[in-house]
Amino acid sequence: MAATNLLSAQQRKHSQEEEAIDLFTSTQIVIKEAIDNLGYPAETFELLKEPMRMLTVRIPVRMDDGKIKIFTGYRSQHNDAVGPTKGGVRFHPEVNENEVKALSMWMSLKCGIAGLPYGGGKGGIICDPREMSFRELEGLSRGYVRAISQVVGPTKDIPAPDVFTNSQIMAWMLDEYSRIREFDSPGFITGKPVVLGGSHGRETATASGVTICVEEAAKKKGIQLEGAQVIIQGFGNAGSFLAKFMHEAGAKVVGISDAHGAIYHSNGLDIDYLLDRRDSFGTVTNLFDQTITNKELLEKECDILVPAAISNQITTENAKNIKASIIVEAANGPTPLEATKILSKRGILLIPDVLASAGGVTVSYFEWVQNNQGYYWTEQEVSTKLRQVIVDSFEKVYSAAAKHQVDMRLAAYIIGVREMAEASRFRGWV
Ligand code: GLU
Repeated sequence: MAATNLLSAQQRKHSQEEEAIDLFTSTQIVIKEAIDNLGYPAETFELLKEPMRMLTVRIPVRMDDGKIKIFTGYRSQHNDAVGPTKGGVRFHPEVNENEVKALSMWMSLKCGIAGLPYGGGKGGIICDPREMSFRELEGLSRGYVRAISQVVGPTKDIPAPDVFTNSQIMAWMLDEYSRIREFDSPGFITGKPVVLGGSHGRETATASGVTICVEEAAKKKGIQLEGAQVIIQGFGNAGSFLAKFMHEAGAKVVGISDAHGAIYHSNGLDIDYLLDRRDSFGTVTNLFDQTITNKELLEKECDILVPAAISNQITTENAKNIKASIIVEAANGPTPLEATKILSKRGILLIPDVLASAGGVTVSYFEWVQNNQGYYWTEQEVSTKLRQVIVDSFEKVYSAAAKHQVDMRLAAYIIGVREMAEASRFRGWV
């Protein structure tokens, strides 16, 4: 029995790793297409097809049972021609090298699209924070910073929250970094608690950015947001705040899900109840007797579908059955390339992850600017500036799609890659 369990765990890990290789390879394919569209030489692709630095670290942590456990962590830095690299750190059992590499490339694209003075970075630790105590998580967060301290810093590479990491983890990481450097350095990391130099509006920033993209996409499609049916897959940081914002905008949230299942009701769900009862990992469907699967949810009747969970959700199998006329990718990598093509042929407007989820890193940039200035903004200022950046980014991508006669994903890559390629050219790298 134990052997069978072990085998299935290994097989699962294997398929996760294969999926990550696919994500990484398809990112390279679209980057290549974007470079060809822009007419840059082959060297530009050679430079951008891999992260310039990938660090693997081993982190010993004393666990609550007194034993030492060694965790594996990564930090990938894609390209720093535009400025220091920037991106979150995820804590998840299925983190792997190719996933972190692909995620760092997407961060470069997000920063390019939003016009932020950064390149892309990403980090991850293979662990399951759902099964770790507060004390163990603190040890792991501090150990990770000690292990990567040589390659990060406020003018080098700036971490932030991602899947299953939050402002408390950022606070421990900041404290460890400040101790190593022996000076206070709030600009080393973003997504901090406000009292430690965090920015107002950072916690809700990803969902705010997605909301703005939903509004802009609805305008393009002539759909009234008021009364529109919305399905949100995932109820974590992005999904739950998005449900709140959609509800406040008068849309009808008819379906939501977590890692265990989904609920759907064509008359709309009680969003206040769901927000009140979700746990800190976004689990909420355990409150219901009757649930459907995540797969079933994606094919239900709606106007707008927002995948806000994990990668590879809209596949070549379900892409033809999706009812939504707009898909906004709040998660990283929910729609593989082949599925993107099917959706595009069906006339579904897809707002790609590198544009739709750029709100988080945009407010992280605002946080870093405030830290550098030592002067802090109001929530209203943050929200006005965020709207401006996302609306401009949306328009840039939408008009690039029309100009180059390509889908929104390739258009977004064209905009994102151009910044990196130009900066690399001026620096004499290619
Ligand atoms: N982890 C977020 C993302 O994937 C935010 C990164 C940041 O704020 O630097 O966009």
